[in-house]
Amino acid sequence: MQVDYLIVGQGICGTMLSWFLHKEEKTFLVIDDNNENSSSKIAAGIINPVTGRRYAYTWMIDEVMPFAIQCYEEVEKNLGLKLVYPKSIIDFFPSPQMRNAFIDRLNENDTYLHSYPDQNHFNPYFNYDFGCGEIRPSYTIHLQLLLSSWRKKLMELNSIKEEKFDVNELKVEEDHISYQNITAQKIIFCDGTDGVNNPWFQLLPYAPNKGEALIIECNELTNDHIFKKGLMLAPLPEENLYWVGSNYQWEFENDQPSQQFYQHATTVLNGWLKKPYKVLSHKAAVRPATLERRPFVGFHPQFQNVGILNGMGTKGTSLAPFFANQLAQHLVYNFPISPEANVHRFTRILSK
Ligand SMILES: Cc1cc2nc3c(=O)[nH]c(=O)nc-3n(C[C@H](O)[C@H](O)[C@H](O)COP(=O)(O)OP(=O)(O)OC[C@H]3O[C@@H](n4cnc5c(N)ncnc54)[C@H](O)[C@@H]3O)c2cc1C
Repeated sequence: MQVDYLIVGQGICGTMLSWFLHKEEKTFLVIDDNNENSSSKIAAGIINPVTGRRYAYTWMIDEVMPFAIQCYEEVEKNLGLKLVYPKSIIDFFPSPQMRNAFIDRLNENDTYLHSYPDQNHFNPYFNYDFGCGEIRPSYTIHLQLLLSSWRKKLMELNSIKEEKFDVNELKVEEDHISYQNITAQKIIFCDGTDGVNNPWFQLLPYAPNKGEALIIECNELTNDHIFKKGLMLAPLPEENLYWVGSNYQWEFENDQPSQQFYQHATTVLNGWLKKPYKVLSHKAAVRPATLERRPFVGFHPQFQNVGILNGMGTKGTSLAPFFANQLAQHLVYNFPISPEANVHRFTRILSK
């Protein structure tokens, strides 16, 4: 079998890269082992334009958020799906200091922060002592539906193989690569956290980070917003279902749900949510995060046929469409990759 590109992994990165290459009428094969606990399948798919205790703008948000929404809307049309849910974030301040930080940013005419006029509006649903503010525009994207629907499409196109890719069988030549009976011009690894053990790129400064979430059912809660107070409580497309998470663990023994998180999340919920709820499931995954919180995009400095789209950390939903498009444009038209994301910034490390 001969294709233009071989792609390893069909999380949000592999999905978006194959989407853009398909649009460019390139041929490719995706190899993905359909791991049910991959980061993209556990994520809430939230696009939040601000971050941290100072409500700083998320990196490149003015560029990546509109691009991502436009891209997901195009996929919606193409596949006949509903993926994009504009939902503002109602931020319940956990302390007077956080309320002040919010007001300070508001006074700087921040684009994304807004005061919420009726401070008592959410009293029927939540306990909150220090008021609330609103963050918008912000979104949830139905990643699970996107991934499964795109997978179906790839099957129709005969462009996906469901199996584990064995990197030991990869042969990299001067002007092509081969893997078993497949020959391609280039291979691009979109292998998420497994990239940490990928011999081609394992020297990159990854900082994998485990996160967990509960799926709860709550029949009496409004689904007009995402709610935040320490944890995020985000409505899922299915009626009365909500995603509750997450935490950030840099040290962990395994990628399985932990009793600790369950205890923490239910304690927070019991003190915060006034409506009865039922926990339906508990999930965990490891985020492919990086030490300097920037993605890994581009081609190995010594092996021009071996590429990577990874390191999306906590922001895959907003970053993956933008950088997948950049990589596709680089492949097809030789357009440049942003220096802050290009793996060439690690030429010395990767040349060891
Ligand atoms: C609890 C939690 C909540 C999150 N919430 C959000 C959020 O709200 N918003 C947001 O933007 N981000 C969120 N994230 C982060 C987001 O999930 C990641 O940034 C993103 O999903 C990474 O996508 P990826 O395609 O790089 O990796 P992955 O989703 O891990 O995909 C990699 C794919 O490659 C496959 N693969 C790997 N190795 C091989 C191999 N050798 N052979 C075959 N297949 C292979 C895997 O099975 C998988 O399907 C969250 C993460 C977690 C854990």
